[in-house]
Amino acid sequence: MTDKLAKIIMQRCDQLAQFSEIEGQLSRGFLTKPMIATHDLVKKWMQEANMITRLDAVGNLIACKTSHNKNAKTLLIGSHLDTVRNAGKYDGIIGVLIAIAAVEILKDKELPFHIDVVAFSEEEGVRYKTPMFGSKAVIGKFDNGYLDLVDNDGISMKQALINYGLDPHKIPQAAYKPKGVLGFLEVHIEQGPRLAAMDKPVAIVSAINGATWATASFVGKAGHAGTSPMDLRQDALLATAEIIIELEKIALSTDGLVGTVGQLEVRPGSSNVIPALTEFSLDIRHSEDKVRQQAVDKLLARADDLAKKRKLEFNYCENTIHKATAMDSNFINILKEIDPLLPIMPSGAGHDAMILAEFTPTAMLFVRSPNGISHNPEEIVWEEDIEAALSVVVRFIEKLANLK
Ligand SMILES: [Zn+2]
Repeated sequence: MTDKLAKIIMQRCDQLAQFSEIEGQLSRGFLTKPMIATHDLVKKWMQEANMITRLDAVGNLIACKTSHNKNAKTLLIGSHLDTVRNAGKYDGIIGVLIAIAAVEILKDKELPFHIDVVAFSEEEGVRYKTPMFGSKAVIGKFDNGYLDLVDNDGISMKQALINYGLDPHKIPQAAYKPKGVLGFLEVHIEQGPRLAAMDKPVAIVSAINGATWATASFVGKAGHAGTSPMDLRQDALLATAEIIIELEKIALSTDGLVGTVGQLEVRPGSSNVIPALTEFSLDIRHSEDKVRQQAVDKLLARADDLAKKRKLEFNYCENTIHKATAMDSNFINILKEIDPLLPIMPSGAGHDAMILAEFTPTAMLFVRSPNGISHNPEEIVWEEDIEAALSVVVRFIEKLANLK
């Protein structure tokens, strides 16, 4: 049955990819017009799996398979339906469709818990430049200030909700009660090349990487590029070049660490003037906060040395710190029992699971991205990998329910 459903999931991904704000590509933002057709179709599939559907006040589409035990807790399974601009067909979507298919397989089985399949309304942060407020509403952490955010057309989030037929005053009711929730499981494409390199279809996510996002600068002295001797210069760009290479060295020598300088400004920015000032971004990520901090400290110590050596000033400002989010160890153990050969790896990107993990035991599965590409129309998944992930999800539910 999983093979038949995997085929259906692939077809459904193609169907949903037609619902887009822009013709010829897939772009589907939070509560935009194509989300209406998306919700209608996903709702139909949920109902075909015998689930009762509802739309909460932030537009999360939720479908319930109820247990006979009315006081039972609820297992949440899902991912998001919104996309980035010019997206691939699978990011987020497969997590929702695999959850529906898992319930389809188990629909005649009595479980000791309810299952809510949750299709989050917003994860990517495209329309309001703020990500994951679908999942934030579910855990009761929706900030009312979000309602005043305005999109590129001048429409506030509050108005967008009203236009979609939703009542912003009811957003607090979208929150689950922590005691009533058993846990959360999200299936997502890996969006990277590691599973493909290992030739494995599915992985267990150990943690979602923490990140340090900072801005740094070296300040030196401008001077004539022709008349200033090399040994008397205070060239800010040379120190910057060295520190960027240092970041690469630290990352290459620390298992799992990634470091990026994605922005660099050089002033005054003339071909015949020695660079007096640089300003650059730093993005450093790891699944363990301690390891990430050690890398940051090592880099900063090296920057201070370079500043001394080259008679420069070094400035550093941390803009954002995201702590690493560990997935639930009991859930990881259950997944390992299902298939001891499943690789375990951290997630380099943020996901709804990161938000849910604050609130309830959370686990995540990655499905191989065969070409390692995501947030791009070239994003692909293989049907047999979908089938493998679906089998793991069904076994996970059965194990939680002590059915097998
Ligand atoms: Zn996603």
